[in-house]
Amino acid sequence: MSLELLHKPDMSALTSLGIGGKARVLARVGDENGLDELARFIEKEGPEVIAIGEGSNMLAGDGELNLALIQIRRSRRAGVTVSENIVRTPADIRLPGLLSVLIKMGLSGMEGLAGIPGSVGGAIAMNAGSYGTEISGTVKRVRLWTPGKGLFWKNASEMDWGYRHFDARTGEFTLVWEAELRLFPSSEEKVRTAVKETFSKKKATQPVTEKSAGCVFKNPEGFSAGKLLDEAGFRGRRLGGMAFSEMHANFLVNTGGGNAAQALELMDLARETVAERSGITLNPEVIILP
Ligand SMILES: Cc1cc2nc3c(=O)[nH]c(=O)nc-3n(C[C@H](O)[C@H](O)[C@H](O)COP(=O)(O)OP(=O)(O)OC[C@H]3O[C@@H](n4cnc5c(N)ncnc54)[C@H](O)[C@@H]3O)c2cc1C
Repeated sequence: MSLELLHKPDMSALTSLGIGGKARVLARVGDENGLDELARFIEKEGPEVIAIGEGSNMLAGDGELNLALIQIRRSRRAGVTVSENIVRTPADIRLPGLLSVLIKMGLSGMEGLAGIPGSVGGAIAMNAGSYGTEISGTVKRVRLWTPGKGLFWKNASEMDWGYRHFDARTGEFTLVWEAELRLFPSSEEKVRTAVKETFSKKKATQPVTEKSAGCVFKNPEGFSAGKLLDEAGFRGRRLGGMAFSEMHANFLVNTGGGNAAQALELMDLARETVAERSGITLNPEVIILP
């Protein structure tokens, strides 16, 4: 089916934090044929429409949410294609899957992103990054879809990229459909080793196997949000089923039975305390819905 509608989807099943109530509707686009129907869906649903990838950077509210979600879920999986050092990838492929292809092809440039669990589309929309690598550094161009223009390619240089910031400059709802990335030729062994090293470092310092949305606050310029939270006594601080991780103070984890009210209260308390202590305002990296 080109466009599948699921009513009252459970946000806790759609997000890695595993919390949240029910959205109004989820539209799953199976292929390019579903896009005309998607434009009509957006017109009908109005402004409360948001794209969702793997939901690994989202904190969804409790209860009934006035939210219409759009997710690319190809009915027949489109694959990654490689020509020389240019990699063309669908947006709904998961980043770890893309990295496996890059390892096999011996293509370097994204090893620092190992351990980020989201989709390629979500990584572009967030300009995901770690250990000094941001996905924007490899993006040559992105194939976008908007209800007004349909599908079209846009060069990376024509869009805005910043720290966990991306703006396709379309002025309307925008879906990342696919992308072309420019990598560097290396060897399978070197890329594999670098990916393993990044992942080992993350496993040693981040609660990668727990339910989280990664770093909950952005690092303020020149500061580490994790360090500020740690110094303010938030490492391990818990409320109900939600807690700032013992392992990394900037990871909010659902230890079981957590909910959005607890998550948001903990975040507010952390922001207030850090601001009082240091005068620094922490801004969420996680997307708070709705
Ligand atoms: C254990 C763990 C570790 C993490 N480590 C990191 C890290 O080191 N660095 C880092 O940057 N992040 C990290 N994250 C956060 C998260 O994985 C990234 O932000 C990821 O890129 C989000 O991808 P997603 O598909 O899950 O996006 P989602 O969470 O589904 O969405 C995130 C944003 O992207 C938009 N979006 C998603 N797909 C599309 C699309 N196709 N078109 C247009 N917009 C879209 C959404 O509307 C939303 O605004 C981590 C998360 C976890 C759980």
